[in-house]
Amino acid sequence: MKIKNCSFCGKEITEQDQGFEGENGFICIDCLDIFHSIAEFDFEEIKKQEMKKQIINTKITPRYIYDALCERVIGQHHAKKVLSVALYQHYKRITCDIKNIKIDKSNILMIGPTGVGKTLLAKTMAEIINLPIAICDATVYTQAGYVGEDVENILLRLLQNADYDLELAQKGIVFIDEFDKLARKSENPSITRDVSGEGVQNALLKIIEGNIINVPPQGGRKHPYQECIKFDTSNVLFICAGAFDGLNKEKEKIIGFEKTTVKEEIDYDKLRKYGIIPEILGRLHVITKLENLTIDELELILTKPKGAIVSQYQQLFALDGIKLTFEEKAIRRIAKKAYDEKLGARSLRKIIENTMLDYMFDLPFDNINKEVLIKENQI
Ligand code: ADP
Repeated sequence: MKIKNCSFCGKEITEQDQGFEGENGFICIDCLDIFHSIAEFDFEEIKKQEMKKQIINTKITPRYIYDALCERVIGQHHAKKVLSVALYQHYKRITCDIKNIKIDKSNILMIGPTGVGKTLLAKTMAEIINLPIAICDATVYTQAGYVGEDVENILLRLLQNADYDLELAQKGIVFIDEFDKLARKSENPSITRDVSGEGVQNALLKIIEGNIINVPPQGGRKHPYQECIKFDTSNVLFICAGAFDGLNKEKEKIIGFEKTTVKEEIDYDKLRKYGIIPEILGRLHVITKLENLTIDELELILTKPKGAIVSQYQQLFALDGIKLTFEEKAIRRIAKKAYDEKLGARSLRKIIENTMLDYMFDLPFDNINKEVLIKENQI
Protein backbone atom coordinates (compact mmCIF):
# COMPACT_ATOMS: atom_id res chain seq x y z
CA MET A 1 0.00 0.00 0.00
CA LYS A 2 1.19 3.49 -0.83
CA ILE A 3 2.19 5.50 2.27
CA LYS A 4 0.48 8.87 2.49
CA ASN A 5 1.54 11.81 4.62
CA CYS A 6 -0.41 14.87 5.77
CA SER A 7 0.68 17.73 3.50
CA PHE A 8 0.71 20.09 6.50
CA CYS A 9 2.22 18.27 9.50
CA GLY A 10 3.83 15.46 7.57
CA LYS A 11 2.27 12.79 9.80
CA GLU A 12 1.96 9.37 8.23
CA ILE A 13 -1.67 8.50 7.41
CA THR A 14 -3.02 5.04 8.13
CA GLU A 15 -6.15 3.53 6.55
CA GLN A 16 -8.22 4.25 9.69
CA ASP A 17 -7.24 7.91 9.79
CA GLN A 18 -9.93 10.32 8.77
CA GLY A 19 -9.16 13.41 6.77
CA PHE A 20 -9.52 14.82 3.31
CA GLU A 21 -7.66 14.03 0.16
CA GLY A 22 -7.36 16.62 -2.58
CA GLU A 23 -5.76 16.40 -6.00
CA ASN A 24 -2.33 17.37 -4.73
CA GLY A 25 -2.35 16.60 -1.07
CA PHE A 26 -3.92 15.31 2.08
CA ILE A 27 -4.97 16.93 5.38
CA CYS A 28 -5.18 14.87 8.55
CA ILE A 29 -7.95 15.27 11.10
CA ASP A 30 -5.65 16.96 13.66
CA CYS A 31 -4.65 19.69 11.20
CA LEU A 32 -8.28 20.10 10.20
CA ASP A 33 -9.11 20.70 13.87
CA ILE A 34 -6.41 23.35 14.18
CA PHE A 35 -7.53 25.17 11.02
CA HIS A 36 -11.11 25.01 12.13
CA SER A 37 -10.34 26.69 15.46
CA ILE A 38 -8.25 29.37 13.74
CA ALA A 39 -11.04 30.05 11.27
CA GLU A 40 -13.59 30.24 14.07
CA PHE A 41 -11.48 32.65 16.08
CA ASP A 42 -11.03 34.94 13.11
CA PHE A 43 -14.71 34.78 12.37
CA GLU A 44 -15.57 36.04 15.86
CA GLU A 45 -13.04 38.84 15.56
CA ILE A 46 -14.31 39.82 12.13
CA LYS A 47 -17.87 39.84 13.43
CA LYS A 48 -16.90 42.25 16.21
CA GLN A 49 -14.98 44.50 13.84
CA GLU A 50 -17.93 44.49 11.44
CA MET A 51 -20.28 45.46 14.24
CA LYS A 52 -18.06 48.37 15.20
CA LYS A 53 -17.83 49.47 11.59
CA GLN A 54 -21.60 49.25 11.26
CA ILE A 55 -22.07 51.63 14.17
CA ILE A 56 -19.88 54.19 12.49
CA ASN A 57 -20.93 53.70 8.89
CA THR A 58 -24.66 53.96 9.24
CA LYS A 59 -25.97 57.16 7.77
CA ILE A 60 -27.55 58.47 10.93
CA THR A 61 -29.44 61.76 11.15
CA PRO A 62 -32.24 62.73 13.54
CA ARG A 63 -34.74 62.40 10.68
CA TYR A 64 -33.40 58.98 9.75
CA ILE A 65 -33.83 57.89 13.37
CA TYR A 66 -37.33 59.36 13.52
CA ASP A 67 -38.40 57.52 10.35
CA ALA A 68 -36.94 54.28 11.63
CA LEU A 69 -38.80 54.70 14.92
CA CYS A 70 -42.03 55.31 12.98
CA GLU A 71 -41.71 51.91 11.30
CA ARG A 72 -42.13 50.21 14.65
CA VAL A 73 -43.80 52.66 17.01
CA ILE A 74 -47.23 54.14 16.40
CA GLY A 75 -48.09 57.64 17.64
CA GLN A 76 -45.92 59.32 20.32
CA HIS A 77 -44.69 61.81 17.74
CA HIS A 78 -43.29 64.33 20.16
CA ALA A 79 -41.41 61.67 22.14
CA LYS A 80 -40.01 60.22 18.89
CA LYS A 81 -38.76 63.64 17.88
CA VAL A 82 -37.09 64.27 21.24
CA LEU A 83 -35.55 60.78 21.28
CA SER A 84 -34.28 61.08 17.70
CA VAL A 85 -32.33 64.17 18.63
CA ALA A 86 -31.04 62.61 21.87
CA LEU A 87 -29.97 59.42 20.10
CA TYR A 88 -28.25 61.40 17.37
CA GLN A 89 -26.31 63.25 20.05
CA HIS A 90 -25.35 59.95 21.68
CA TYR A 91 -24.27 58.61 18.31
CA LYS A 92 -22.06 61.64 17.76
CA ARG A 93 -20.48 61.21 21.18
CA ILE A 94 -19.56 57.59 20.60
CA THR A 95 -18.33 57.92 17.04
CA CYS A 96 -16.59 61.28 17.24
CA ASP A 97 -12.82 60.74 17.31
CA ILE A 98 -11.83 64.33 17.82
CA LYS A 99 -10.44 64.39 21.34
CA ASN A 100 -10.91 68.08 22.13
CA ILE A 101 -14.60 68.16 21.27
CA LYS A 102 -16.62 67.24 24.32
CA ILE A 103 -20.33 66.64 23.93
CA ASP A 104 -22.14 66.32 27.24
CA LYS A 105 -24.07 63.18 27.91
CA SER A 106 -27.87 63.50 27.69
CA ASN A 107 -29.56 60.77 29.66
CA ILE A 108 -33.28 60.47 29.17
CA LEU A 109 -36.36 60.28 31.39
CA MET A 110 -39.50 58.88 29.74
CA ILE A 111 -42.75 59.48 31.54
CA GLY A 112 -45.87 57.69 30.44
CA PRO A 113 -48.51 55.13 31.41
CA THR A 114 -48.01 51.41 30.97
CA GLY A 115 -48.10 49.80 27.54
CA VAL A 116 -47.69 52.92 25.43
CA GLY A 117 -44.30 52.07 23.91
CA LYS A 118 -41.56 53.17 26.33
CA THR A 119 -39.64 49.89 26.20
CA LEU A 120 -40.35 49.47 22.51
CA LEU A 121 -38.88 52.90 21.79
CA ALA A 122 -35.71 52.12 23.74
CA LYS A 123 -35.27 48.73 22.04
CA THR A 124 -35.82 50.24 18.61
CA MET A 125 -33.32 53.03 19.34
CA ALA A 126 -30.67 50.42 20.17
CA GLU A 127 -31.45 48.50 16.97
CA ILE A 128 -31.23 51.58 14.78
CA ILE A 129 -27.63 52.26 15.71
CA ASN A 130 -26.66 48.65 16.39
CA LEU A 131 -25.90 49.06 20.05
CA PRO A 132 -26.34 46.56 22.86
CA ILE A 133 -29.13 47.34 25.31
CA ALA A 134 -29.85 46.15 28.85
CA ILE A 135 -33.48 46.35 29.93
CA CYS A 136 -33.92 46.27 33.70
CA ASP A 137 -36.63 46.71 36.25
CA ALA A 138 -35.74 49.20 38.99
CA THR A 139 -37.79 47.35 41.58
CA VAL A 140 -35.42 44.35 41.81
CA TYR A 141 -32.47 46.44 43.01
CA THR A 142 -31.62 47.41 46.57
CA GLN A 143 -28.89 49.43 48.19
CA ALA A 144 -25.66 47.39 48.39
CA GLY A 145 -25.62 45.04 51.34
CA TYR A 146 -29.39 44.42 51.44
CA VAL A 147 -31.48 41.56 50.08
CA GLY A 148 -31.98 42.15 46.36
CA GLU A 149 -29.71 42.77 43.38
CA ASP A 150 -26.83 45.25 43.26
CA VAL A 151 -27.11 47.93 40.58
CA GLU A 152 -23.74 46.85 39.10
CA ASN A 153 -25.54 43.83 37.66
CA ILE A 154 -27.22 46.17 35.18
CA LEU A 155 -23.80 46.74 33.61
CA LEU A 156 -23.05 43.03 33.62
CA ARG A 157 -26.23 42.47 31.64
CA LEU A 158 -25.17 45.13 29.15
CA LEU A 159 -21.81 43.42 28.81
CA GLN A 160 -23.48 40.05 28.24
CA ASN A 161 -25.72 41.58 25.58
CA ALA A 162 -22.61 42.97 23.88
CA ASP A 163 -21.17 39.43 23.70
CA TYR A 164 -18.62 40.43 26.37
CA ASP A 165 -17.15 43.13 24.12
CA LEU A 166 -16.36 45.70 26.84
CA GLU A 167 -15.62 48.50 24.40
CA LEU A 168 -18.98 48.08 22.71
CA ALA A 169 -20.87 47.67 26.01
CA GLN A 170 -19.40 50.96 27.23
CA LYS A 171 -21.25 52.71 24.38
CA GLY A 172 -24.52 50.88 24.88
CA ILE A 173 -27.94 51.77 26.24
CA VAL A 174 -29.39 50.96 29.66
CA PHE A 175 -33.16 51.10 30.02
CA ILE A 176 -34.42 51.24 33.60
CA ASP A 177 -38.15 50.63 33.83
CA GLU A 178 -40.38 51.38 36.85
CA PHE A 179 -38.00 54.17 37.77
CA ASP A 180 -40.82 56.01 39.58
CA LYS A 181 -41.00 53.14 42.10
CA LEU A 182 -37.66 54.36 43.48
CA ALA A 183 -39.23 57.62 44.65
CA ARG A 184 -38.28 58.34 48.22
CA LYS A 185 -41.08 58.29 50.68
CA SER A 186 -40.87 61.91 51.82
CA GLU A 187 -39.61 65.03 50.15
CA ASN A 188 -36.67 65.39 52.53
CA PRO A 189 -33.66 63.07 52.56
CA SER A 190 -34.62 60.15 54.76
CA ILE A 191 -33.19 59.67 58.22
CA THR A 192 -34.53 56.13 58.33
CA ARG A 193 -33.28 53.61 55.77
CA ASP A 194 -34.96 53.60 52.39
CA VAL A 195 -32.91 50.79 50.86
CA SER A 196 -35.10 50.06 47.86
CA GLY A 197 -35.92 53.68 47.04
CA GLU A 198 -33.54 56.48 47.82
CA GLY A 199 -30.74 53.96 48.49
CA VAL A 200 -30.98 52.62 44.93
CA GLN A 201 -31.20 56.11 43.50
CA ASN A 202 -27.91 56.94 45.20
CA ALA A 203 -26.33 53.74 43.90
CA LEU A 204 -27.62 54.49 40.39
CA LEU A 205 -26.29 58.01 40.54
CA LYS A 206 -22.74 56.69 40.62
CA ILE A 207 -23.39 54.69 37.45
CA ILE A 208 -25.47 57.26 35.59
CA GLU A 209 -23.14 60.21 36.10
CA GLY A 210 -20.26 58.40 34.38
CA ASN A 211 -17.64 56.61 36.46
CA ILE A 212 -15.41 53.59 36.39
CA ILE A 213 -17.53 50.93 38.06
CA ASN A 214 -16.28 47.59 39.39
CA VAL A 215 -18.56 44.93 37.98
CA PRO A 216 -18.40 41.39 39.40
CA PRO A 217 -17.97 39.12 36.34
CA GLN A 218 -20.22 36.36 37.68
CA GLY A 219 -22.96 38.74 38.80
CA GLY A 220 -24.44 38.52 42.28
CA ARG A 221 -22.84 40.30 45.21
CA LYS A 222 -19.45 41.96 45.13
CA HIS A 223 -16.96 40.73 47.68
CA PRO A 224 -13.64 42.34 48.63
CA TYR A 225 -11.25 39.80 47.08
CA GLN A 226 -13.07 39.38 43.81
CA GLU A 227 -11.49 40.39 40.48
CA CYS A 228 -13.86 42.91 38.96
CA ILE A 229 -14.32 44.21 35.43
CA LYS A 230 -13.66 47.95 35.25
CA PHE A 231 -16.64 49.34 33.37
CA ASP A 232 -16.53 52.98 32.28
CA THR A 233 -20.07 54.35 32.12
CA SER A 234 -19.26 57.82 30.80
CA ASN A 235 -20.52 56.92 27.32
CA VAL A 236 -23.46 54.71 28.30
CA LEU A 237 -26.84 56.20 27.48
CA PHE A 238 -29.29 55.79 30.37
CA ILE A 239 -33.02 55.86 29.73
CA CYS A 240 -35.15 55.85 32.85
CA ALA A 241 -38.87 55.25 32.47
CA GLY A 242 -41.94 55.18 34.62
CA ALA A 243 -45.61 56.07 34.89
CA PHE A 244 -45.15 58.65 37.67
CA ASP A 245 -48.83 58.38 38.55
CA GLY A 246 -50.28 61.58 39.89
CA LEU A 247 -47.34 63.69 38.78
CA ASN A 248 -49.28 65.75 36.31
CA LYS A 249 -52.73 65.76 37.79
CA GLU A 250 -54.94 68.33 36.20
CA LYS A 251 -55.52 70.82 38.93
CA GLU A 252 -58.69 72.73 39.23
CA LYS A 253 -58.23 76.34 40.06
CA ILE A 254 -60.98 78.70 40.88
CA ILE A 255 -60.29 82.03 39.22
CA GLY A 256 -62.94 84.51 40.25
CA PHE A 257 -66.14 82.56 39.72
CA GLU A 258 -64.76 80.60 36.81
CA LYS A 259 -63.54 77.08 37.27
CA THR A 260 -60.61 76.45 34.97
CA THR A 261 -58.72 73.24 34.44
CA VAL A 262 -55.00 73.89 34.14
CA LYS A 263 -52.81 71.22 32.55
CA GLU A 264 -49.35 71.58 33.96
CA GLU A 265 -46.05 70.81 32.29
CA ILE A 266 -43.59 68.40 33.87
CA ASP A 267 -40.73 70.17 35.53
CA TYR A 268 -37.80 69.22 37.71
CA ASP A 269 -39.37 70.69 40.82
CA LYS A 270 -42.38 68.39 40.52
CA LEU A 271 -40.16 65.38 39.97
CA ARG A 272 -38.15 66.31 43.04
CA LYS A 273 -41.33 66.61 45.06
CA TYR A 274 -42.38 63.24 43.68
CA GLY A 275 -39.29 61.75 45.33
CA ILE A 276 -36.52 61.66 42.74
CA ILE A 277 -33.29 62.97 44.24
CA PRO A 278 -32.03 66.23 42.67
CA GLU A 279 -28.61 64.72 41.92
CA ILE A 280 -30.22 62.15 39.59
CA LEU A 281 -32.53 64.73 38.05
CA GLY A 282 -29.45 66.80 37.25
CA ARG A 283 -28.16 63.86 35.15
CA LEU A 284 -31.39 63.35 33.18
CA HIS A 285 -31.23 66.19 30.71
CA VAL A 286 -33.95 65.04 28.35
CA ILE A 287 -37.46 64.53 29.68
CA THR A 288 -40.16 63.28 27.39
CA LYS A 289 -43.77 62.48 28.05
CA LEU A 290 -45.62 59.67 26.29
CA GLU A 291 -49.34 59.92 25.74
CA ASN A 292 -52.14 57.41 26.22
CA LEU A 293 -52.84 55.62 22.95
CA THR A 294 -56.07 56.49 21.13
CA ILE A 295 -58.41 53.86 19.64
CA ASP A 296 -57.16 54.77 16.15
CA GLU A 297 -53.55 54.25 17.25
CA LEU A 298 -54.37 50.92 18.87
CA GLU A 299 -56.00 49.88 15.60
CA LEU A 300 -52.83 50.77 13.72
CA ILE A 301 -50.65 48.90 16.22
CA LEU A 302 -52.59 45.75 15.38
CA THR A 303 -51.86 45.92 11.69
CA LYS A 304 -49.25 48.46 10.65
CA PRO A 305 -45.81 48.09 12.28
CA LYS A 306 -43.25 45.53 11.13
CA GLY A 307 -44.22 42.24 12.78
CA ALA A 308 -47.62 43.56 13.93
CA ILE A 309 -49.74 41.14 15.99
CA VAL A 310 -52.27 40.46 13.22
CA SER A 311 -49.57 39.63 10.68
CA GLN A 312 -47.91 37.33 13.23
CA TYR A 313 -51.14 35.33 13.49
CA GLN A 314 -51.58 35.37 9.74
CA GLN A 315 -48.11 33.89 9.32
CA LEU A 316 -48.82 31.27 11.95
CA PHE A 317 -51.97 30.18 10.12
CA ALA A 318 -50.25 30.38 6.74
CA LEU A 319 -47.82 27.72 7.96
CA ASP A 320 -50.81 25.39 8.10
CA GLY A 321 -51.98 26.59 4.67
CA ILE A 322 -54.82 28.70 6.05
CA LYS A 323 -55.63 32.29 5.09
CA LEU A 324 -56.57 34.32 8.16
CA THR A 325 -58.49 37.57 7.75
CA PHE A 326 -59.91 39.99 10.29
CA GLU A 327 -62.94 42.07 9.38
CA GLU A 328 -62.22 45.79 9.66
CA LYS A 329 -64.93 46.07 12.28
CA ALA A 330 -63.33 43.25 14.25
CA ILE A 331 -60.04 45.13 14.36
CA ARG A 332 -61.89 48.22 15.55
CA ARG A 333 -63.63 46.20 18.24
CA ILE A 334 -60.32 44.79 19.53
CA ALA A 335 -58.85 48.30 19.69
CA LYS A 336 -61.91 49.63 21.49
CA LYS A 337 -61.83 46.80 24.01
CA ALA A 338 -58.11 47.36 24.68
CA TYR A 339 -58.73 51.09 25.06
CA ASP A 340 -61.35 50.42 27.73
CA GLU A 341 -58.97 48.17 29.66
CA LYS A 342 -56.53 51.11 30.04
CA LEU A 343 -53.40 48.99 29.74
CA GLY A 344 -52.27 50.58 26.50
CA ALA A 345 -51.28 48.15 23.77
CA ARG A 346 -50.63 45.40 26.30
CA SER A 347 -54.28 44.25 26.15
CA LEU A 348 -54.28 43.79 22.38
CA ARG A 349 -52.43 40.49 22.34
CA LYS A 350 -54.53 39.10 25.19
CA ILE A 351 -57.80 39.98 23.42
CA ILE A 352 -56.67 38.42 20.13
CA GLU A 353 -55.33 35.36 21.92
CA ASN A 354 -58.69 34.80 23.65
CA THR A 355 -60.51 35.14 20.34
CA MET A 356 -58.18 32.80 18.48
CA LEU A 357 -57.86 30.14 21.16
CA ASP A 358 -60.42 27.72 19.70
CA TYR A 359 -59.06 28.11 16.17
CA MET A 360 -55.51 27.64 17.39
CA PHE A 361 -56.52 24.55 19.34
CA ASP A 362 -57.95 22.89 16.23
CA LEU A 363 -54.99 23.67 13.97
CA PRO A 364 -54.37 22.28 11.38
CA PHE A 365 -58.07 21.77 10.72
CA ASP A 366 -59.95 20.34 7.76
CA ASN A 367 -61.37 23.51 6.36
CA ILE A 368 -62.17 22.97 2.73
CA ASN A 369 -61.84 26.65 1.86
CA LYS A 370 -58.67 26.95 3.92
CA GLU A 371 -59.83 30.36 5.09
CA VAL A 372 -60.74 31.86 8.46
CA LEU A 373 -62.57 35.14 8.76
CA ILE A 374 -62.78 36.78 12.20
CA LYS A 375 -65.94 38.86 12.55
CA GLU A 376 -66.83 41.70 14.90
CA ASN A 377 -69.20 39.62 17.01
CA GLN A 378 -66.46 37.06 17.74
CA ILE A 379 -64.40 39.59 19.71
P1 ADP B 1 -44.26 50.27 28.19
O1 ADP B 1 -44.67 51.68 27.83
O2 ADP B 1 -45.01 49.78 29.40
O3 ADP B 1 -42.80 50.09 28.27
P2 ADP B 1 -44.04 48.49 25.93
O4 ADP B 1 -43.18 49.32 25.07
O5 ADP B 1 -43.40 47.36 26.67
O6 ADP B 1 -44.82 49.39 26.99
O7 ADP B 1 -45.26 47.92 25.09
C1 ADP B 1 -46.00 46.77 25.40
C2 ADP B 1 -46.44 46.08 24.11
O8 ADP B 1 -47.28 46.92 23.34
C3 ADP B 1 -45.28 45.72 23.22
O9 ADP B 1 -45.56 44.48 22.63
C4 ADP B 1 -45.25 46.80 22.15
O10 ADP B 1 -44.83 46.24 20.94
C5 ADP B 1 -46.71 47.25 22.07
N1 ADP B 1 -46.78 48.72 21.93
C6 ADP B 1 -46.93 49.61 22.94
N2 ADP B 1 -46.97 50.85 22.48
C7 ADP B 1 -46.82 50.79 21.15
C8 ADP B 1 -46.75 51.78 20.12
N3 ADP B 1 -46.86 53.09 20.38
N4 ADP B 1 -46.58 51.34 18.85
C9 ADP B 1 -46.47 50.01 18.56
N5 ADP B 1 -46.54 49.04 19.49
C10 ADP B 1 -46.70 49.40 20.79
